[in-house]
Amino acid sequence: MPELPEVEGVARELQRRLSHRRIMQAQVARPRLVAPMTPEAFVGRLRGAAFVAVGRRGKHLLLHLDNAYTLVVHLRMAGRFLYLVPESALPKFVHAIFDLDNGRRLAFQDQRHFAIMRLARTDELLQLKELRDLAPEPLGPDFTPDYLQRALAATRRPIKEALLDQTLVAGLGNIYAAEALFAVGLHPLTPANVIAKAKVKHLWQVIRILLEAAIEAGSTIDVNPESIAGQYFGAAFAEALLVYDREGEPCARCETPIARIRQGQRSTYFCPQCQRLRGATGRQAPR
Ligand SMILES: [Zn+2]
Repeated sequence: MPELPEVEGVARELQRRLSHRRIMQAQVARPRLVAPMTPEAFVGRLRGAAFVAVGRRGKHLLLHLDNAYTLVVHLRMAGRFLYLVPESALPKFVHAIFDLDNGRRLAFQDQRHFAIMRLARTDELLQLKELRDLAPEPLGPDFTPDYLQRALAATRRPIKEALLDQTLVAGLGNIYAAEALFAVGLHPLTPANVIAKAKVKHLWQVIRILLEAAIEAGSTIDVNPESIAGQYFGAAFAEALLVYDREGEPCARCETPIARIRQGQRSTYFCPQCQRLRGATGRQAPR
């Protein structure tokens, strides 16, 4: 599932190709993608509009148009954009198509059917349900150690779940949350509100370093929209992941086999040796 670095990569690729491109025609093959808008209203609003810039907020792509609207896209599990040459056949699971003024077609493909597209007035963007409650951008100035301290102090939920809560920390998903917790030696079940201040500061620092490194490395998925075969988790950064999806493999630090637990319907990977469950005192919790 694309997380902040992957979505940032997609935004940059789209920005390079779509800036000032005009949408001549559009089609929506799966009405639920654009609900509650009807496909007719959605297409009507897009036809003739040009892309001004492509940005990102949390894991949402923001495709700003010159008609005072912004197309907000959440890729969820498997949504992706393809930038097709005119003669290219449409691949499977294409749910929306945008015919551009340079003859190219921007196709939106989603094998898992979870992605969403919302068309919102650009000046009302921040009131959009999907965006208004998001935490500060983790690479922006408002995401400070103090902010993270306050956010985590307010919840007893396990730290892994707190990190996935987009209203507390925006942009992290299963991969980078697991990697961040490994980097600071926190057990994923540690209640968020008992983590010592110094540890929270370390976590804050690690989150930023991890996200920046992943963006720099081109993130964990191939986001080149020209490549129909673009493979998930194919790029170099996936090699740099130390615990995610490595159940049973030796920990890079202590060689203890990486463990996997189920947490809120998701798999959580961690090193049982490097990430011990400790109480509020900092001592190891009794077994
Ligand atoms: Zn270890």
